Amino acid sequence: MRTIGIIGSGTAGLQLAYALKDDFDVTVLHHEEPDEVRSGRVRSTQVHFQPTLARERRVHMPANSDAPQIRTIHFQLGGQKLFTGQLTGIATSTDQRIRFADAMEDLAKDGVRFRHGRISAGDLDALAASFDLIIDAAGKAGPVASFPVDESLTPFRTPQRKCIVGYFSGIRPVEPEGISITVMPGTGEMFEIPAVTSNGRATILFIEAVPGGALDAFVGVKGPDAFAERMLGVVEEHLPEIAGRIDPAKFALIDDNAYLLTAVTPAVHRPYVMHNGTLILGCGDSVFLADPITGQGCNTASYAAEQLYETLLAHADADWDESIGSEYWNRTQPYIKAVTEWTNAMTQPLPGHIAELLMQAAADQNTADRIAHWFEDPTQAYRSFFEQHNSQPFPR
Ligand SMILES: Cc1cc2nc3c(=O)[nH]c(=O)nc-3n(C[C@H](O)[C@H](O)[C@H](O)COP(=O)(O)OP(=O)(O)OC[C@H]3O[C@@H](n4cnc5c(N)ncnc54)[C@H](O)[C@@H]3O)c2cc1C
Repeated sequence: MRTIGIIGSGTAGLQLAYALKDDFDVTVLHHEEPDEVRSGRVRSTQVHFQPTLARERRVHMPANSDAPQIRTIHFQLGGQKLFTGQLTGIATSTDQRIRFADAMEDLAKDGVRFRHGRISAGDLDALAASFDLIIDAAGKAGPVASFPVDESLTPFRTPQRKCIVGYFSGIRPVEPEGISITVMPGTGEMFEIPAVTSNGRATILFIEAVPGGALDAFVGVKGPDAFAERMLGVVEEHLPEIAGRIDPAKFALIDDNAYLLTAVTPAVHRPYVMHNGTLILGCGDSVFLADPITGQGCNTASYAAEQLYETLLAHADADWDESIGSEYWNRTQPYIKAVTEWTNAMTQPLPGHIAELLMQAAADQNTADRIAHWFEDPTQAYRSFFEQHNSQPFPR
């Protein structure tokens, strides 16, 4: 059997391991054991929309039966409620700590090898000598391999937002249960997302703060108690609708590691390179890194993982060389361009026609549902932002 080494045991690496394990000899190179992942720091928020769930089902990834069933997206502009859009399918949200740890153990039982250790660029010579193919799915800490940057899809040199995430108890959910997005022009956004964790249900409060703006209020905040106290203060000051659903006596992080302060500089790399005659393919954040503002990172990682798998399967017996890498990139590029340009645009002041569309959605359920669908299919969002400026009425 041909051998494949996957660097990283996150969204992309694990879906790929499930997809590839029956046709190839797969080794996952990871630097955290399942128990470390389970008891460690939250990594992200993670809404898996219906197309991602369908891809995961196709490769028989286990699903968490307690995960919230997300059917709606609520949208506020400043203090004004605009609309609630219906998704076309159910989305779910499972704390990556349990999801990744459970999947690693499940795959190991199924014969996938796991090799512990943090991989660096210096390890690539040895890996290239031992595997027929390497997949770099090291996430936003990556890439490990030197994939060239695609400058046309990499316009920023600094993060456009600071990402501030906490998983909380003590918040009455929005009704009907769903994701709530509050846009505060010039200041940032607040995302409220239900999730299942090992401590039961939580509500994620996820601030995307414009650096230096009013929501960028966590500089110097250290420790879980100080984080929770600052979050409550920020919500009470800037987000009265959410504050009205918080019971201050019960408001607390779901565990001491359930908070995160980070920032992402978006970057797209050409996802293939040869190393000493061995092909290295990139998948997920290591090569397609976007700001989390549109909640697409897991969905993009899952999309690219399926494209990578299908490319390899179509050439299971061929030479794995640059032409395979080029075919994988040609397959993924239109989607990556769409999700990247939409996401980058969302970090900037909204174009006039999009602001008008949001207002139209407040009066028209069809438009509200179409906007909710952007998050399931970012190519539709791309069309609305960049290709349909003059289309009236908004087509179904
Ligand atoms: C604040 C925040 C909020 C987000 N919210 C959402 C959301 O709502 N919806 C959504 O779809 N996406 C969201 N994302 C993005 C999403 O989490 C990622 O895009 C997604 O997990 C990418 O999958 P991946 O496999 O590329 O990376 P990851 O899931 O991060 O996995 C990378 C893996 O590689 C391992 N690793 C790293 N370096 C090495 C190394 N040198 N050697 C060995 N192993 C290594 C890591 O331990 C990890 O297991 C968010 C991200 C952030 C930061």
